[in-house]
Amino acid sequence: MKILVINCGSSSIKCTLFAMPERRVLADCMVEKIGEGDAALTLRGEEVSLSRPCRSDDHKAALDVVLDCLLREGGGVLGSLDEIAAVGHRMVHGGEKISSSVAVDSEVIKVVEENIKLAPLHNPPNLVGLKAAMERFGGKLQVAVFDTAFHGTIPPEAYFYAVPYELYKEHGVRRYGFHGTSHRYVADRAAQMLSMALEECNLITLHLGNGCSAAAVRGGRSVDTSMGLTPLEGLVMGTRCGDIDPALFFYLAEQLGMSPQEVYDLLNRRSGLAGLSGVGNDMREIIAAARSGNVRAELALGVFCYRVKKYIGAYHAVLGRLDGIVFTAGIGENSPEVRRRALDGLEPLGIRLDEKKNARAVGREAIISADNSAVSVLVVPTDEALNIAIDTYGVYVRSFECQSQEER
Ligand code: ADP
Repeated sequence: MKILVINCGSSSIKCTLFAMPERRVLADCMVEKIGEGDAALTLRGEEVSLSRPCRSDDHKAALDVVLDCLLREGGGVLGSLDEIAAVGHRMVHGGEKISSSVAVDSEVIKVVEENIKLAPLHNPPNLVGLKAAMERFGGKLQVAVFDTAFHGTIPPEAYFYAVPYELYKEHGVRRYGFHGTSHRYVADRAAQMLSMALEECNLITLHLGNGCSAAAVRGGRSVDTSMGLTPLEGLVMGTRCGDIDPALFFYLAEQLGMSPQEVYDLLNRRSGLAGLSGVGNDMREIIAAARSGNVRAELALGVFCYRVKKYIGAYHAVLGRLDGIVFTAGIGENSPEVRRRALDGLEPLGIRLDEKKNARAVGREAIISADNSAVSVLVVPTDEALNIAIDTYGVYVRSFECQSQEER
Protein backbone atom coordinates (compact mmCIF):
# COMPACT_ATOMS: atom_id res chain seq x y z
CA MET A 1 0.00 0.00 0.00
CA LYS A 2 1.01 3.62 -0.52
CA ILE A 3 1.24 6.24 2.22
CA LEU A 4 1.86 9.93 1.63
CA VAL A 5 3.69 11.91 4.30
CA ILE A 6 3.15 15.67 4.36
CA ASN A 7 5.39 18.11 6.22
CA CYS A 8 3.96 21.58 5.92
CA GLY A 9 6.33 24.29 7.22
CA SER A 10 6.01 28.07 7.22
CA SER A 11 7.19 28.54 3.62
CA SER A 12 7.52 25.00 2.24
CA ILE A 13 5.65 21.73 1.78
CA LYS A 14 7.55 18.45 1.61
CA CYS A 15 5.73 15.29 0.57
CA THR A 16 7.18 11.78 0.55
CA LEU A 17 5.38 8.85 -0.99
CA PHE A 18 6.17 5.48 0.61
CA ALA A 19 5.39 1.89 -0.29
CA MET A 20 4.51 0.29 3.05
CA PRO A 21 5.27 -1.89 4.88
CA GLU A 22 8.40 -2.20 2.68
CA ARG A 23 9.43 1.34 3.75
CA ARG A 24 10.46 2.17 0.19
CA VAL A 25 10.49 5.81 -0.97
CA LEU A 26 8.67 6.06 -4.29
CA ALA A 27 8.91 9.83 -4.64
CA ASP A 28 9.96 12.93 -2.76
CA CYS A 29 8.36 16.19 -3.76
CA MET A 30 8.79 19.68 -2.39
CA VAL A 31 7.60 23.23 -3.00
CA GLU A 32 9.74 25.94 -1.42
CA LYS A 33 9.28 29.70 -1.07
CA ILE A 34 5.49 29.46 -0.99
CA GLY A 35 3.86 32.84 -1.57
CA GLU A 36 7.14 34.52 -2.55
CA GLY A 37 6.67 34.81 -6.30
CA ASP A 38 9.73 32.63 -7.06
CA ALA A 39 8.36 29.38 -5.64
CA ALA A 40 10.16 26.26 -6.86
CA LEU A 41 9.12 22.64 -7.22
CA THR A 42 11.42 19.63 -7.03
CA LEU A 43 10.52 15.98 -7.53
CA ARG A 44 12.83 13.01 -6.99
CA GLY A 45 11.85 9.41 -7.40
CA GLU A 46 13.23 6.01 -8.32
CA GLU A 47 13.07 6.96 -11.98
CA VAL A 48 12.22 10.66 -12.01
CA SER A 49 13.98 13.87 -11.14
CA LEU A 50 12.77 17.34 -12.03
CA SER A 51 13.06 20.87 -10.77
CA ARG A 52 11.16 23.91 -12.02
CA PRO A 53 9.60 27.19 -10.92
CA CYS A 54 5.91 26.97 -10.00
CA ARG A 55 2.98 29.18 -9.03
CA SER A 56 1.92 28.75 -5.45
CA ASP A 57 0.38 31.73 -3.73
CA ASP A 58 -0.46 29.83 -0.57
CA HIS A 59 -0.11 26.40 1.07
CA LYS A 60 -3.32 25.09 -0.44
CA ALA A 61 -2.12 25.98 -3.95
CA ALA A 62 1.31 24.51 -3.17
CA LEU A 63 -0.23 21.21 -2.03
CA ASP A 64 -2.18 21.06 -5.30
CA VAL A 65 1.09 21.59 -7.22
CA VAL A 66 2.79 18.79 -5.25
CA LEU A 67 -0.08 16.32 -5.64
CA ASP A 68 -0.43 17.01 -9.37
CA CYS A 69 3.28 16.49 -9.74
CA LEU A 70 3.06 13.06 -8.06
CA LEU A 71 0.67 11.95 -10.80
CA ARG A 72 2.12 10.33 -13.90
CA GLU A 73 0.90 13.13 -16.17
CA GLY A 74 2.71 15.61 -13.92
CA GLY A 75 5.96 13.63 -14.14
CA GLY A 76 5.38 11.48 -11.05
CA VAL A 77 4.69 7.87 -10.23
CA LEU A 78 0.95 7.62 -9.46
CA GLY A 79 -1.83 6.71 -11.88
CA SER A 80 -4.33 8.32 -9.51
CA LEU A 81 -4.40 9.78 -6.00
CA ASP A 82 -6.81 6.95 -5.12
CA GLU A 83 -3.75 4.69 -4.91
CA ILE A 84 -2.82 6.48 -1.66
CA ALA A 85 -4.34 4.59 1.28
CA ALA A 86 -3.57 7.06 4.05
CA VAL A 87 -1.88 10.41 4.64
CA GLY A 88 0.46 11.10 7.57
CA HIS A 89 1.06 14.67 8.75
CA ARG A 90 4.00 16.02 10.69
CA MET A 91 2.45 18.17 13.43
CA VAL A 92 4.56 20.12 15.92
CA HIS A 93 2.62 20.91 19.08
CA GLY A 94 -0.07 18.61 20.49
CA GLY A 95 0.14 20.09 24.00
CA GLU A 96 -0.75 17.83 26.92
CA LYS A 97 -3.73 16.09 25.41
CA ILE A 98 -2.08 14.00 22.71
CA SER A 99 0.55 11.41 23.59
CA SER A 100 0.53 9.19 20.49
CA SER A 101 -0.06 9.35 16.76
CA VAL A 102 -3.78 9.62 16.06
CA ALA A 103 -6.37 9.51 13.30
CA VAL A 104 -7.42 13.10 12.64
CA ASP A 105 -10.92 14.12 13.71
CA SER A 106 -12.46 17.39 14.86
CA GLU A 107 -11.03 16.90 18.40
CA VAL A 108 -7.47 16.64 17.05
CA ILE A 109 -7.95 19.77 14.96
CA LYS A 110 -9.23 21.57 18.07
CA VAL A 111 -6.10 20.54 19.99
CA VAL A 112 -3.83 21.87 17.22
CA GLU A 113 -5.75 25.15 17.23
CA GLU A 114 -5.57 25.45 21.02
CA ASN A 115 -1.80 25.04 20.88
CA ILE A 116 -1.15 27.73 18.28
CA LYS A 117 -0.20 30.05 21.15
CA LEU A 118 2.64 27.67 22.09
CA ALA A 119 3.88 27.10 18.51
CA PRO A 120 2.84 30.18 16.53
CA LEU A 121 5.31 29.50 13.70
CA HIS A 122 4.55 25.81 13.26
CA ASN A 123 0.98 24.86 14.16
CA PRO A 124 -0.74 27.29 11.72
CA PRO A 125 1.01 25.97 8.55
CA ASN A 126 0.63 22.38 9.84
CA LEU A 127 -3.08 23.01 10.14
CA VAL A 128 -3.40 24.57 6.69
CA GLY A 129 -1.68 21.51 5.15
CA LEU A 130 -3.90 19.16 7.11
CA LYS A 131 -7.13 20.88 6.11
CA ALA A 132 -6.07 21.15 2.46
CA ALA A 133 -5.24 17.43 2.39
CA MET A 134 -8.55 16.55 4.03
CA GLU A 135 -10.33 18.49 1.31
CA ARG A 136 -8.31 16.94 -1.50
CA PHE A 137 -8.43 13.34 -0.21
CA GLY A 138 -12.06 13.26 0.91
CA GLY A 139 -12.66 10.58 3.52
CA LYS A 140 -9.16 8.98 3.38
CA LEU A 141 -7.49 8.26 6.73
CA GLN A 142 -5.35 11.21 7.85
CA VAL A 143 -2.95 10.63 10.72
CA ALA A 144 -1.38 13.35 12.87
CA VAL A 145 2.11 12.58 14.19
CA PHE A 146 3.15 15.12 16.83
CA ASP A 147 6.69 16.19 17.74
CA THR A 148 5.58 16.54 21.36
CA ALA A 149 3.68 13.24 21.70
CA PHE A 150 6.53 10.92 22.72
CA HIS A 151 7.36 13.19 25.67
CA GLY A 152 3.84 12.89 27.10
CA THR A 153 5.21 10.34 29.60
CA ILE A 154 7.61 12.79 31.30
CA PRO A 155 6.77 13.02 35.04
CA PRO A 156 5.77 16.33 36.69
CA GLU A 157 9.10 16.83 38.49
CA ALA A 158 10.77 16.94 35.07
CA TYR A 159 8.18 18.98 33.20
CA PHE A 160 7.37 21.65 35.79
CA TYR A 161 9.32 24.90 35.84
CA ALA A 162 9.69 26.43 39.28
CA VAL A 163 7.55 29.44 38.44
CA PRO A 164 4.11 30.33 39.87
CA TYR A 165 1.84 27.30 39.53
CA GLU A 166 -0.91 29.41 37.92
CA LEU A 167 1.28 29.85 34.83
CA TYR A 168 0.97 26.11 34.27
CA LYS A 169 -2.72 25.90 35.12
CA GLU A 170 -3.84 28.98 33.22
CA HIS A 171 -1.29 29.28 30.41
CA GLY A 172 0.14 25.80 29.86
CA VAL A 173 3.68 26.86 30.86
CA ARG A 174 5.68 23.61 31.25
CA ARG A 175 8.27 21.49 29.45
CA TYR A 176 6.80 19.76 26.39
CA GLY A 177 9.85 18.62 24.42
CA PHE A 178 10.19 18.15 20.66
CA HIS A 179 11.86 15.80 18.10
CA GLY A 180 9.66 13.11 19.69
CA THR A 181 9.27 10.95 16.57
CA SER A 182 13.03 10.88 16.15
CA HIS A 183 13.81 10.02 19.78
CA ARG A 184 11.19 7.27 19.73
CA TYR A 185 12.40 5.78 16.45
CA VAL A 186 16.10 5.69 17.37
CA ALA A 187 15.34 4.30 20.85
CA ASP A 188 13.36 1.50 19.24
CA ARG A 189 16.12 0.74 16.71
CA ALA A 190 18.82 0.90 19.39
CA ALA A 191 17.02 -1.70 21.52
CA GLN A 192 16.81 -3.96 18.47
CA MET A 193 20.51 -3.45 17.71
CA LEU A 194 21.37 -4.32 21.32
CA SER A 195 19.06 -7.39 21.18
CA MET A 196 17.18 -6.05 24.20
CA ALA A 197 13.46 -5.69 24.79
CA LEU A 198 12.66 -1.98 24.53
CA GLU A 199 10.74 -2.22 27.83
CA GLU A 200 13.97 -3.21 29.59
CA CYS A 201 16.29 -0.77 27.90
CA ASN A 202 17.47 2.55 29.40
CA LEU A 203 18.81 4.97 26.82
CA ILE A 204 19.98 8.52 26.31
CA THR A 205 19.06 9.62 22.80
CA LEU A 206 20.86 12.61 21.29
CA HIS A 207 19.27 14.27 18.28
CA LEU A 208 22.01 16.57 17.00
CA GLY A 209 20.97 18.37 13.80
CA ASN A 210 20.30 22.05 13.20
CA GLY A 211 17.94 21.72 16.12
CA CYS A 212 19.38 19.60 18.94
CA SER A 213 17.77 17.79 21.84
CA ALA A 214 18.57 15.03 24.32
CA ALA A 215 16.09 12.61 25.88
CA ALA A 216 16.23 10.15 28.76
CA VAL A 217 14.26 7.08 27.68
CA ARG A 218 13.37 4.46 30.29
CA GLY A 219 11.85 1.24 28.93
CA GLY A 220 10.81 2.95 25.69
CA ARG A 221 9.16 5.92 27.47
CA SER A 222 10.57 9.42 27.53
CA VAL A 223 11.19 10.52 31.14
CA ASP A 224 13.01 13.79 30.45
CA THR A 225 14.10 15.89 27.52
CA SER A 226 16.16 19.02 27.01
CA MET A 227 13.79 21.14 24.89
CA GLY A 228 11.09 22.83 26.91
CA LEU A 229 8.07 25.06 26.46
CA THR A 230 9.61 25.87 23.07
CA PRO A 231 12.47 24.34 21.05
CA LEU A 232 14.90 26.99 22.39
CA GLU A 233 15.92 25.30 25.64
CA GLY A 234 18.64 22.73 26.23
CA LEU A 235 21.56 21.88 23.98
CA VAL A 236 23.48 24.40 21.87
CA MET A 237 22.02 24.40 18.33
CA GLY A 238 22.82 25.80 14.88
CA THR A 239 21.46 29.25 15.64
CA ARG A 240 19.66 28.73 18.98
CA CYS A 241 21.30 29.35 22.33
CA GLY A 242 19.88 26.45 24.36
CA ASP A 243 20.15 26.85 28.15
CA ILE A 244 20.92 30.36 29.38
CA ASP A 245 20.28 32.38 32.50
CA PRO A 246 16.71 33.65 31.91
CA ALA A 247 17.79 36.98 33.38
CA LEU A 248 19.74 37.57 30.15
CA PHE A 249 16.41 38.57 28.64
CA PHE A 250 15.98 41.32 31.21
CA TYR A 251 19.65 42.35 30.91
CA LEU A 252 19.46 42.78 27.12
CA ALA A 253 16.23 44.74 27.40
CA GLU A 254 17.58 47.02 30.15
CA GLN A 255 21.16 47.51 28.98
CA LEU A 256 20.77 47.37 25.18
CA GLY A 257 17.18 48.60 24.94
CA MET A 258 16.14 45.53 22.96
CA SER A 259 12.45 44.72 22.49
CA PRO A 260 11.06 41.26 23.38
CA GLN A 261 10.95 40.41 19.66
CA GLU A 262 14.58 41.47 19.18
CA VAL A 263 15.76 39.39 22.13
CA TYR A 264 13.75 36.42 20.88
CA ASP A 265 15.32 36.74 17.41
CA LEU A 266 18.80 37.08 18.88
CA LEU A 267 18.44 33.91 20.96
CA ASN A 268 16.72 31.92 18.17
CA ARG A 269 18.49 33.06 15.01
CA ARG A 270 21.79 34.71 15.91
CA SER A 271 23.05 32.50 18.73
CA GLY A 272 24.22 28.89 19.05
CA LEU A 273 27.06 27.64 16.84
CA ALA A 274 26.58 30.55 14.42
CA GLY A 275 26.67 33.24 17.11
CA LEU A 276 29.71 31.80 18.86
CA SER A 277 31.79 30.80 15.84
CA GLY A 278 31.10 33.64 13.41
CA VAL A 279 31.47 31.11 10.57
CA GLY A 280 27.81 30.08 10.31
CA ASN A 281 25.76 27.22 11.67
CA ASP A 282 27.14 24.35 9.58
CA MET A 283 29.04 21.95 11.85
CA ARG A 284 31.23 20.75 8.95
CA GLU A 285 32.50 24.28 8.39
CA ILE A 286 32.97 24.88 12.09
CA ILE A 287 35.06 21.73 12.47
CA ALA A 288 37.14 22.66 9.40
CA ALA A 289 37.68 26.21 10.70
CA ALA A 290 38.60 24.93 14.18
CA ARG A 291 41.15 22.55 12.63
CA SER A 292 42.76 25.41 10.76
CA GLY A 293 43.16 27.41 13.93
CA ASN A 294 40.02 29.57 14.10
CA VAL A 295 39.70 30.25 17.83
CA ARG A 296 36.01 31.12 17.83
CA ALA A 297 35.12 28.01 15.81
CA GLU A 298 37.06 25.91 18.33
CA LEU A 299 35.19 27.66 21.14
CA ALA A 300 31.79 26.94 19.50
CA LEU A 301 32.71 23.28 19.06
CA GLY A 302 33.90 23.08 22.65
CA VAL A 303 30.74 24.68 24.09
CA PHE A 304 28.54 22.44 21.91
CA CYS A 305 30.24 19.19 22.99
CA TYR A 306 30.46 20.22 26.65
CA ARG A 307 26.70 20.86 26.77
CA VAL A 308 26.01 17.42 25.26
CA LYS A 309 28.32 15.85 27.87
CA LYS A 310 26.56 17.70 30.68
CA TYR A 311 23.17 16.34 29.59
CA ILE A 312 24.58 12.82 29.32
CA GLY A 313 25.71 13.11 32.95
CA ALA A 314 22.35 14.48 34.07
CA TYR A 315 20.31 11.85 32.26
CA HIS A 316 22.61 9.06 33.44
CA ALA A 317 21.69 10.16 36.96
CA VAL A 318 17.98 10.34 36.04
CA LEU A 319 18.00 6.83 34.58
CA GLY A 320 20.25 5.17 37.16
CA ARG A 321 21.20 2.19 35.03
CA LEU A 322 22.19 3.18 31.50
CA ASP A 323 22.32 0.67 28.62
CA GLY A 324 23.05 2.90 25.66
CA ILE A 325 23.74 6.36 24.28
CA VAL A 326 22.35 6.94 20.81
CA PHE A 327 23.59 9.60 18.39
CA THR A 328 21.34 10.71 15.54
CA ALA A 329 20.56 13.53 13.02
CA GLY A 330 23.04 15.39 10.78
CA ILE A 331 25.78 15.97 13.37
CA GLY A 332 25.12 12.88 15.51
CA GLU A 333 25.14 10.55 12.51
CA ASN A 334 28.08 12.07 10.67
CA SER A 335 30.56 13.55 13.08
CA PRO A 336 33.00 11.18 14.84
CA GLU A 337 34.73 14.27 16.22
CA VAL A 338 31.65 15.59 18.05
CA ARG A 339 30.85 12.11 19.40
CA ARG A 340 34.43 11.68 20.63
CA ARG A 341 34.55 15.06 22.32
CA ALA A 342 31.11 14.69 23.91
CA LEU A 343 32.08 11.33 25.46
CA ASP A 344 35.68 12.20 26.30
CA GLY A 345 36.44 11.61 29.99
CA LEU A 346 33.27 9.59 30.68
CA GLU A 347 35.18 6.31 31.16
CA PRO A 348 34.53 6.39 34.95
CA LEU A 349 30.81 6.25 34.08
CA GLY A 350 31.43 3.07 32.07
CA ILE A 351 31.30 4.85 28.70
CA ARG A 352 34.15 3.91 26.36
CA LEU A 353 34.32 4.58 22.63
CA ASP A 354 36.11 2.36 20.12
CA GLU A 355 37.96 5.02 18.11
CA LYS A 356 38.12 2.96 14.92
CA LYS A 357 34.45 2.03 14.99
CA ASN A 358 33.59 5.66 15.75
CA ALA A 359 35.63 6.94 12.80
CA ARG A 360 34.01 4.44 10.42
CA ALA A 361 30.41 5.12 11.51
CA VAL A 362 29.34 7.92 9.21
CA GLY A 363 25.69 8.08 8.16
CA ARG A 364 24.94 4.46 8.99
CA GLU A 365 23.80 2.30 11.86
CA ALA A 366 26.65 1.11 14.06
CA ILE A 367 27.64 0.23 17.61
CA ILE A 368 30.74 2.30 18.28
CA SER A 369 31.55 1.54 21.92
CA ALA A 370 34.55 -0.53 22.97
CA ASP A 371 33.90 -4.20 23.77
CA ASN A 372 34.63 -3.51 27.47
CA SER A 373 32.29 -0.51 27.68
CA ALA A 374 29.52 -1.02 30.25
CA VAL A 375 27.33 1.38 28.27
CA SER A 376 26.86 0.82 24.53
CA VAL A 377 27.22 3.79 22.21
CA LEU A 378 25.27 3.69 18.98
CA VAL A 379 24.78 5.65 15.79
CA VAL A 380 21.25 5.38 14.38
CA PRO A 381 20.27 7.52 11.39
CA THR A 382 16.83 9.02 11.82
CA ASP A 383 14.35 9.75 9.09
CA GLU A 384 11.42 11.90 10.05
CA ALA A 385 9.29 11.17 6.98
CA LEU A 386 9.83 7.42 7.41
CA ASN A 387 8.93 7.62 11.12
CA ILE A 388 5.68 9.34 10.19
CA ALA A 389 4.97 6.74 7.50
CA ILE A 390 5.55 3.92 10.02
CA ASP A 391 3.13 5.52 12.50
CA THR A 392 0.55 6.21 9.81
CA TYR A 393 0.77 2.61 8.68
CA GLY A 394 0.31 1.48 12.31
CA VAL A 395 -2.82 3.62 12.76
CA TYR A 396 -4.13 2.37 9.40
CA VAL A 397 -3.65 -1.29 10.34
CA ARG A 398 -5.29 -0.77 13.75
CA SER A 399 -8.29 1.06 12.26
CA PHE A 400 -8.65 -1.72 9.71
CA GLU A 401 -8.53 -4.37 12.47
CA CYS A 402 -11.16 -2.47 14.53
CA GLN A 403 -13.38 -2.23 11.46
CA SER A 404 -13.20 -5.97 10.73
CA GLN A 405 -13.85 -6.79 14.43
CA GLU A 406 -16.98 -4.64 14.32
CA GLU A 407 -18.12 -6.38 11.15
CA ARG A 408 -17.69 -9.84 12.68
P1 ADP B 1 17.81 19.54 10.46
O1 ADP B 1 17.67 19.77 11.94
O2 ADP B 1 17.66 20.78 9.64
O3 ADP B 1 17.04 18.33 9.93
P2 ADP B 1 20.14 17.88 10.00
O4 ADP B 1 19.73 16.75 10.84
O5 ADP B 1 20.20 17.68 8.51
O6 ADP B 1 19.35 19.20 10.31
O7 ADP B 1 21.60 18.33 10.50
C1 ADP B 1 22.24 19.44 9.97
C2 ADP B 1 23.58 19.57 10.64
O8 ADP B 1 24.33 18.37 10.42
C3 ADP B 1 24.40 20.72 10.11
O9 ADP B 1 25.02 21.40 11.19
C4 ADP B 1 25.47 20.02 9.29
O10 ADP B 1 26.65 20.74 9.27
C5 ADP B 1 25.65 18.76 10.12
N1 ADP B 1 26.38 17.74 9.36
C6 ADP B 1 26.02 17.10 8.24
N2 ADP B 1 27.03 16.29 7.80
C7 ADP B 1 28.05 16.44 8.70
C8 ADP B 1 29.35 15.89 8.83
N3 ADP B 1 29.85 15.02 7.94
N4 ADP B 1 30.12 16.29 9.89
C9 ADP B 1 29.67 17.18 10.76
N5 ADP B 1 28.44 17.72 10.71
C10 ADP B 1 27.63 17.36 9.69
